[in-house]
Amino acid sequence: MALIPGRVSEDFGKRLATLENMRDFPALPYPWQQNDWQSFSAQLEQRHLPHALMLAGPQGIGKRHLAEALAQRVLCLSPASGTACGKCRACDLMKAGTHPDITWLEPEEPGKAIKIDSVRALIQTLGQTAQQGGYKVVIVDPAEAMNANASNALLKSLEEPAENTLLILISHTPSAVMPTIRSRCQMHLLALPGEEQVLRWLTPLMTGSQVAPERLLAAARGAPLTALALLEGDALEWREQLQDGLVQLSEDRVSAIALAAQWQNADVAATLEWLLGWVHDLARWRVGAPSVVMDELPEAAQQRFRQLSLPVLHRYLEKLLTTKKQLLSGANPNKQLLLEELLLDWGVLLKQRERSQ
Ligand SMILES: [Zn+2]
Repeated sequence: MALIPGRVSEDFGKRLATLENMRDFPALPYPWQQNDWQSFSAQLEQRHLPHALMLAGPQGIGKRHLAEALAQRVLCLSPASGTACGKCRACDLMKAGTHPDITWLEPEEPGKAIKIDSVRALIQTLGQTAQQGGYKVVIVDPAEAMNANASNALLKSLEEPAENTLLILISHTPSAVMPTIRSRCQMHLLALPGEEQVLRWLTPLMTGSQVAPERLLAAARGAPLTALALLEGDALEWREQLQDGLVQLSEDRVSAIALAAQWQNADVAATLEWLLGWVHDLARWRVGAPSVVMDELPEAAQQRFRQLSLPVLHRYLEKLLTTKKQLLSGANPNKQLLLEELLLDWGVLLKQRERSQ
């Protein structure tokens, strides 16, 4: 098996982030976001928009895009047909990326923590009047990247919100966000959109591609923007390599140590994210949910995975989540050791078959 070059997954992360960012101005909500968009519009018209809202849901479904569309709509001076007009002074500033009343609170690097200093700087900005005289919008992406200190600092502005302030918190893992933060936000749970709707959107964007849209969407675990990002570069191949490695490990054809050595060359956070999704998919397939990815595995692997003990599989998922939280908290563990432990555990898991079988 070829080595996985580190740049592949890192590039993939950046590509996904670029896709999540606005490409057209004004940003229009994706077809699967219409209901949420209408509820925001209604709240805006009735002047009932909350001070803080959380857009929570899986990665790659366009939460950031939706946040940006809402920010544009809120800051635009003369919104037309429910979206930013694209012509006023505020829109000009937003197009240029220089609007003074929109602030992004993000980690300095993807996968790292949002520091308390950034939150403090933000709170200071929020204490001042909006420069364009309207709303002030803050987008936190992702909210789970705030550690306890940063979260506590932000909490104060959530408890005593300034006039005309809108905080939009984006979260891929809302359970990893401090409960006191969560409870002060109006929660918008954005589910994975329906396959049919996504395929209608995705297929025209795939002209010239060798991959079938259904296959691509399955590899992206149903997340439309992830699917689009997978189209470019060798991200699809990278994922297939990860899966091959896991199957080989399951058949004792490669050791956990050797596989960890290969995997540590890639971005660990991205690998962990993939592993989490893959095992989640496996657990669902194990109880009878359809999965193109699992159905395409070699028969021997399928048979082996069918016998996995569900409680053990769920414990493994919990372990992966805990590891992900550790990484998100800014801890900088030894990558090789972390992967070795996860892969050794996977080996142990495979030996724990369902007793009834
Ligand atoms: Zn405008």
